[in-house]
Amino acid sequence: MFQLNGKVALVTGGSRGIGRACCEALAEHGATVVVNYVKGEAAAREVADAIVAKGGKAEILGFDVADPKACEAAIEDVVKRHGKLDVLVANAGISIDGLLLRLKDEDLDRLFAVNVKGALACARASTKAMMKAKTGRVIFLSSVVGEMGNVGQTAYAATKAAVIGAAKSIAREFASRNITVNAIAPGFIDTDMTSHMNDAMKEHLVKIVPLGRTGTAREVAAACVYLASDEAAYVTGQVLRVNGGMYV
Ligand code: NAP
Repeated sequence: MFQLNGKVALVTGGSRGIGRACCEALAEHGATVVVNYVKGEAAAREVADAIVAKGGKAEILGFDVADPKACEAAIEDVVKRHGKLDVLVANAGISIDGLLLRLKDEDLDRLFAVNVKGALACARASTKAMMKAKTGRVIFLSSVVGEMGNVGQTAYAATKAAVIGAAKSIAREFASRNITVNAIAPGFIDTDMTSHMNDAMKEHLVKIVPLGRTGTAREVAAACVYLASDEAAYVTGQVLRVNGGMYV
């Protein structure tokens, strides 16, 4: 089960955190993985090298998801070189936290440019190739806060809710082409994104997680492998929650 041999997968923001774990897990299951990054070239190279060292197939590809033309050119390039793109994991994301009354327009614009427009630009370019192949998997990274909200995360939560609406719509648009589109909504996962939280914030968060701990990037990556696999062929337009029961 969950064999991805012969599949080509692009993971945006694959250089760190959840994206890195998705790259590693997809490669372990046989996929050729394209590891995207924007700043972390060395980190992305380390991910690809680690995959290759274990006998897997990986390459790196730098582009800024906030630049729609760059997304299109990069994805066209992947399709040209590999002849196809089977799986897109639209994972690249940023968080900028703050209460609504202190929300800056430039932060709102940046959040939407990366988390929403970036994910959609990649989905648009990828589905073009998937349509021709009449098969494909698009997996968006949403968040628990996109469904339940969180004090101090209005803008970030809005971007993550947007991704769910987009996933459900794209799922309907492309179902007849045998392309499935889903979102993973992780809870509180230990990565660079959550490392700025102080101990008090972390303790509070862990208290509201029924499983009583933070999640790992690897646990999110397992959901990604499942959604990318043939076994998930009848799953589309869904939100797969990997959150320790934080929101049910
Ligand atoms: P992270 O550790 O901060 O890593 C972010 C990744 O996104 C990095 O690889 C980074 O690349 C890439 N990235 C950022 N801006 C980019 C851009 N403009 N173009 C291309 N790549 C870009 O984040 P994470 O915690 O793994 O989160 C991954 C995804 O899961 C995000 O969408 C996040 O919103 C979501 N999520 C995370 C959590 C959590 O608790 N950690 C919970 C729910 C949802 P560089 O290394 O090149 O900067």
